[in-house]
Amino acid sequence: MLRDGGVIAQGFDADLDELRDIQTNCGAFLLELEARERERSGIPNLKVEFNRVHGFYIEISAANAAKAELPDDYRRRQTLKNAERYITPELKAFEDKALSAQERALAREKLLYEEVLDQLAADIPRFQRIARACALLDGLSAFAEAAARYNYAMPRFSDQPGIEIVAGRHPVVERQVENFIANDCRLDPTRRMLLITGPNMGGKSTTMRQVALIALLAHVGCFVPATSARIGPVDAIFTRIGASDDLASGRSTFMVEMTEAAAILHGATDQSLVLMDEIGRGTSTFDGVALAVSIARHLLEKNRCWTLFATHYFELTRLAQDYPECANVHLDAVEHNHGIVFLHALEEGPASQSYGIEVAALAGIPTSVVRDAKRRLRALENREISAGPQADLFASLPPEEPDAPGHPVLGALAAIDPDALTPREALEALYELKRLTA
Ligand code: ADP
Repeated sequence: MLRDGGVIAQGFDADLDELRDIQTNCGAFLLELEARERERSGIPNLKVEFNRVHGFYIEISAANAAKAELPDDYRRRQTLKNAERYITPELKAFEDKALSAQERALAREKLLYEEVLDQLAADIPRFQRIARACALLDGLSAFAEAAARYNYAMPRFSDQPGIEIVAGRHPVVERQVENFIANDCRLDPTRRMLLITGPNMGGKSTTMRQVALIALLAHVGCFVPATSARIGPVDAIFTRIGASDDLASGRSTFMVEMTEAAAILHGATDQSLVLMDEIGRGTSTFDGVALAVSIARHLLEKNRCWTLFATHYFELTRLAQDYPECANVHLDAVEHNHGIVFLHALEEGPASQSYGIEVAALAGIPTSVVRDAKRRLRALENREISAGPQADLFASLPPEEPDAPGHPVLGALAAIDPDALTPREALEALYELKRLTA
């Protein structure tokens, strides 16, 4: 900021340097003056000091002032109980200089700065060209560096509609996880929409975003994180991704979701790439599914855009039967030792399970809640077959039956939620288990 000073370098202007020296060397000058005055007056405890009200002064104790013969140019400035304060012409001159030095330095800098600007003004167009060239060079060299360092490949553009990515990666996620699984993506006129299913945390968002990022990087002139990429004409990328909501400006999350979806339905063309991540999630299950299906159908029939449509509504996977240009793909997970392992590999076909409860357990939902949810899920699935989708979530469940009649210690063990126990309760639980085995 010009008003804070410091914009003109040392050595550019002698006057400015002198003004700055006064400020920085103030202390040194005063020490030097003090030493000189001690010698001249013969008073070893003479002090040179400063205060805001009286400015600079030479202070001599009253006793010394009375007996010593002071130099002629000492003028009394102030008399205190125990001391006399003096000023000399040299100190007065220094004071005038020092007090106004900062102000004058700033004014001098402003003047110099404006002079420099005046000189440069004639060359503004040239500077703008240089700045643009530097920016371009900076951007391109960053692309080149990323391409070399992270093993990116040159994308190919073609007039053939569609996108074909072999072993694509997400440029940011791949730097953050240990084993990133590369995935292919093929969009062509027989596959305009990919319906992506799979568990939460399975990698749906990552896969979708990496396709859009690869298309975007290619268009801005960067190599892409993939083994190969062929990109047909793309006129725009639209996304409806749940990362942000807009509560501050008074729109609910669902309202934002629908506003963005509306913009896509109105704007996407048959050359647009559209990402739809979990549309319909912000409202109740039934109108959520209904909206998701209708939006997907509109994208397929009217927009005819290239769509990656991630959803946890399995109902949508049926769309592929009605629309030949819609294909199901999924990200898989497997259960392993009562846990869940995400494979992150994109496969053809719909997902077989959603693993929501397993993911909840992984996130630290208390065991008792997870067990209750599992029982409710089983009940819902059974009733859905017999009584249709109106099954009552809130009905009280039949008393829990043990999976298989086993040793009582197994039941007791299963009922323990280690995270919810105090150390003391844990110890008591251990004694109880021990007692049951006796
Ligand atoms: P979803 O959208 O299905 O809930 P995300 O795309 O958010 O899942 O992925 C969840 C996490 O899984 C990511 O944060 C990342 O750590 C990991 N992940 C996603 N895709 C891959 C992949 N291809 N290889 C390795 N890890 C991945």
